[in-house]
Amino acid sequence: MSYSIGVDVGGTKVLGGVVDSQGKVHAHARRDTPREGGADLNQAIADVALELISQFDVDCVGVSAAGFVSSDRKTMLATPNIAQWNGVNLEKEIGGRINRPVVIENDANSAAWGEAKFGAGRGEDHVILLTIGTGIGGGIVIDGALQRGAHGIAAEFGHMRVVPEGHLCGCGQRGCFEQYASGNALLRHAREAINASPEIARNLLSLGDGSVSGLSGKHITDAARMGDAVALAAFNTTAQWLGAGIASLSVLLDPRCVIIGGGVIDAGEILLAPTREAVERYMPFSGKHPSPRIVAAELGNEAGLVGVADLARYRIAPSSSV
Ligand SMILES: [Zn+2]
Repeated sequence: MSYSIGVDVGGTKVLGGVVDSQGKVHAHARRDTPREGGADLNQAIADVALELISQFDVDCVGVSAAGFVSSDRKTMLATPNIAQWNGVNLEKEIGGRINRPVVIENDANSAAWGEAKFGAGRGEDHVILLTIGTGIGGGIVIDGALQRGAHGIAAEFGHMRVVPEGHLCGCGQRGCFEQYASGNALLRHAREAINASPEIARNLLSLGDGSVSGLSGKHITDAARMGDAVALAAFNTTAQWLGAGIASLSVLLDPRCVIIGGGVIDAGEILLAPTREAVERYMPFSGKHPSPRIVAAELGNEAGLVGVADLARYRIAPSSSV
């Protein structure tokens, strides 16, 4: 059995796992993410890798993190959340310490590869992953190959403009998809419904601290499971936007499978069922061609770790995988 290590660098923890060529995770190691980033973070990643290398015969190490990665997959060019890590060459900083090749990949691409190859998209060659949390990220696999684009920013689905002069987005533009179809958008839709008719929202608000601002995505999911009309309406509105976006992506990329991941998918069919209906409703030439399957992600928080471990293996020996 061939083993590689995937290391997922998150905001609070650095989580590593030993992954075999079938995508199965055999052991974990973790450290807290050093707030100082930079050299301390490199050390934490090396420590996680060394702990696992002492237990398994490992070929290579993949590191998954948010940000833009160089085309040779060795350098983090720009990361939004980690201090002193821009321009750091991980192969140089870590590879020597652990005596293994090191590859870095964007976290959304890593998760997309994990889900496409070993999760909800296994067996399919044309897969899109939409990760729906506070924003919307994702990845594209076409013909069994991860699509990074010319400059590494492919699949930034959340920033497709869907409403002219719509809500302001963190990217500096207005009307981006994630302002309407993300977890934050779910909250916005719920708050708007409550502000329009406060008397119908007593049940939903009672799950939080009673205030509209105290409402969380989990409260809305819990309320929707209880059949709460306001919560279900917020999910339905989110699903309409999501379905319209997926219909557009489908005529662009023609996936066989669209996987929905991220925190919002905890709601399961409460989100998926109206999304599937909306995809059909908004699909160009609807009914005249097959539509993609819309399914929930299966690997949860492990998707990035599993995906980047496999991408590292592929990078080291291109003929051995994919
Ligand atoms: Zn945006």
